Amino acid sequence: MTRRLYEEDSFCREFTATVLSCEKRGDAYAVVLDKTAFFPEGGGQPSDPGTLNGVAVLNVQTEGDVIVHTLAAPLTVGQTVSGALDWEVRFQRMQKHTGEHIVCGIVHNLYGLENVGFHLGSEDVTLDLDGELTREQLDEVESLANRVVIQNLAVTASFPSDEELKTLEYRSKKEIEGAVRIVTIDGLDRCACCAPHVAYTGQVGLIKLLDFIRYKGGVRIHMQCGKDALLDYRMRYTQTATLAAALSVKQHEVVAAVERVMAQRDELERELRAARLETQRMRVAALATHSAPVCFVEPPMDGEAQRELAALAAQKCGGLCAVFAGKDGDGYGYAAAGGDLAAFGARLKERLGARGGGNAERIQGRVAATTAEIEAFWREYASETDE
Ligand SMILES: [Zn+2]
Repeated sequence: MTRRLYEEDSFCREFTATVLSCEKRGDAYAVVLDKTAFFPEGGGQPSDPGTLNGVAVLNVQTEGDVIVHTLAAPLTVGQTVSGALDWEVRFQRMQKHTGEHIVCGIVHNLYGLENVGFHLGSEDVTLDLDGELTREQLDEVESLANRVVIQNLAVTASFPSDEELKTLEYRSKKEIEGAVRIVTIDGLDRCACCAPHVAYTGQVGLIKLLDFIRYKGGVRIHMQCGKDALLDYRMRYTQTATLAAALSVKQHEVVAAVERVMAQRDELERELRAARLETQRMRVAALATHSAPVCFVEPPMDGEAQRELAALAAQKCGGLCAVFAGKDGDGYGYAAAGGDLAAFGARLKERLGARGGGNAERIQGRVAATTAEIEAFWREYASETDE
């Protein structure tokens, strides 16, 4: 059985241990030590990164009673090795994990909800509750959680006896086999948990509840703690400051300013659409009424405008009209209406490698061709259909 140093002292970041076994598994080596400070993956938390004698520890797993470290290079059996955790990563995880206990403890005390899922990702922490909460309730939980941080309550771990456990009230996600480790936040919460925690709630730093969604009959909450909460705040501050400068408003006026800009954009889109339709009507009015096919090669325009122009022109000339819009290098979008579209579409595919689809009334798609190639294609097509 591997002695778990992280259970005895969560702040143990360097240690020496004896290599009990080292076996090759695929491209890597499975190393078992007599003791370790590396927390193995479990309970929604990834395993600790770090090194053993300078060799990177890729993964740490529990296998029965022992803890197995996966390394890229072998270690010698019987050798004394020095282990070092990537403390930056581990400490942030302790901040987040204790932060999760604080939040879930408060939610449990206030609303009687249970924590039924926890994931400590590289970005933020997610926790799942078995009932719904409103934003206002979550704001209240967040305020209380940060008050608990300021109160700097002691966080301790213990292994109570079976007798003690019978009368002890504690939160637990599932039935636990073997010794039950209880993590206690003084006066707030008791929870069965095998992970390392900070020693005092003050070490968690800022707790911020972010988005939440309805999830499996309850809610999934995203949260940030400690250093990651600061980095998240910094990122959001920079974004808001940049937006405010771009919009020439104060930061607290950004939302109203963006709403104004979006309303202006909608109005401009309406005006642009009306103007575009008018231009197209004028261009089509200038077309002679005849049955010959018509082709427009245009600068980039949106697909809807292309289809409108093709339909209007096809109506006026009583034959096929094709509209190509784009530029050399990027390729051209096309839309066509009127005439024998099936034959035209097949020809486009054969000569210009067109991709797209449509129906008897209209076809549309894209060609990876240049203006010169489209014009040459069209000359050939038009001369054949004229005959
Ligand atoms: Zn826990």
